[in-house]
Amino acid sequence: MYDVVVAGVGIAGAFTLRTLSKNLKVVGIDKREKLGYPVECGELVPTKKEMKSLLPHLEDYSIFDIPEKYTSNRTKFLEFVIPNGKSVKVEFEMLVINRDRFISEIAEKSGHEIRNRTKILGYEPEEQKLNLRDLNRMKNYELKADVVVASDGANSRIAKSLGVWKYEIASAKQYVMTDVECDEDTVYMFVGSKIAPGGYAWIIPKGNGIANVGVGIRQSFISKDDSIHKILDRFVKEYPYSSRYLKRAEVICKIGAVAPVDKPIDKTVFNRTLLVGDSASMILSHVAAGIPVSMIAGDIAGRVVNDYFNGKADIEMYERIWREKLLDTMMNSYRIKQLWDKISITDEKICKYFKFIGKKDMAAILRSRIPVKLRIAEPFMPILNIVF
Ligand SMILES: Cc1cc2nc3c(=O)[nH]c(=O)nc-3n(C[C@H](O)[C@H](O)[C@H](O)COP(=O)(O)OP(=O)(O)OC[C@H]3O[C@@H](n4cnc5c(N)ncnc54)[C@H](O)[C@@H]3O)c2cc1C
Repeated sequence: MYDVVVAGVGIAGAFTLRTLSKNLKVVGIDKREKLGYPVECGELVPTKKEMKSLLPHLEDYSIFDIPEKYTSNRTKFLEFVIPNGKSVKVEFEMLVINRDRFISEIAEKSGHEIRNRTKILGYEPEEQKLNLRDLNRMKNYELKADVVVASDGANSRIAKSLGVWKYEIASAKQYVMTDVECDEDTVYMFVGSKIAPGGYAWIIPKGNGIANVGVGIRQSFISKDDSIHKILDRFVKEYPYSSRYLKRAEVICKIGAVAPVDKPIDKTVFNRTLLVGDSASMILSHVAAGIPVSMIAGDIAGRVVNDYFNGKADIEMYERIWREKLLDTMMNSYRIKQLWDKISITDEKICKYFKFIGKKDMAAILRSRIPVKLRIAEPFMPILNIVF
């Protein structure tokens, strides 16, 4: 019997393992052969300086001192491009991380046992029992632990077993491309019904002409005869405001993935089972960014579990602490996403609203703050939508 099972070793799982005491009997479980690989992510993390305004309730930001060996680029600006090609360029510093190396080294350095190629088939919460499949030996077995950390991502089997997997999910497709000719100091975000229905498309320069080029959409926003594959190809080959950077670009890797785009679930502790990261829909939903909150939530989970075994805290503390540190930002982000859905009914309306949304407002939105202008306009949006 283990003290702790960390079920899923992505960002949240790796940062839980990192903090869990070496005195505990811990195992990390993941279906992947190589942790973090393939990279199903844009790999963007705001710098420590930006994190201070994005997550203002933290006391310690040292977790965001990400060593250079894990980063491939440091960008200075974010350019937001609307359907008529006009753009707003905002100062916002971000790191493009090597997410696979980041996850695998953080997890391995924790010194805890890790079982790769082990798939979670199901979970029995009353018994804290995981039903697993060893993908090497093709054998099923069970594993019990005093504490189970559910960090198995957006498609969480554990959240499904607990009946809390009800959050809205966006689909994404991404290419890693070489010979991309964009400004490598700038991350590009594109919105519009042709290239990102219900979401956005991106070009994220990793340096040396390599970039993550992708699109995130919501199924309810796309027409029946369209698909995410067609949409990404349109973005790469036809859409004038993105394809100009990609004329000579070549695909070296393709991934498809999902991300929650909702508010966090109402309850994240069930007896001695804790949900951390995407499995609990911990995300900045207006941009589908979950790396920073998953890092912090994983760290909080690790600390609370250590205290639980030392007799200093009960597991419920996890719920209280992460809400205190992270919830405000995630709820603001969720409200921005809701406002965006009201604005982005058509491409025409996006362009009209953007006559009123300037650099300052975009800078606030990126930092999960709702600009005063939008707060005031919100109750009048049904009327504004008729006028526009
Ligand atoms: C295309 C895309 C681009 C994104 N870009 C960004 C970005 O630039 N910046 C940002 O902040 N966020 C981004 N996100 C969101 C971000 O990737 C997630 O919010 C973050 O990775 C959540 O971490 P996590 O540990 O909860 O989940 P994950 O990192 O997904 O980890 C879950 C782990 O559980 C394992 N697992 C899942 N199911 C099982 C199972 N049945 N059995 C065993 N193991 C299992 C997986 O293999 C994985 O290792 C993006 C998401 C997508 C889809």
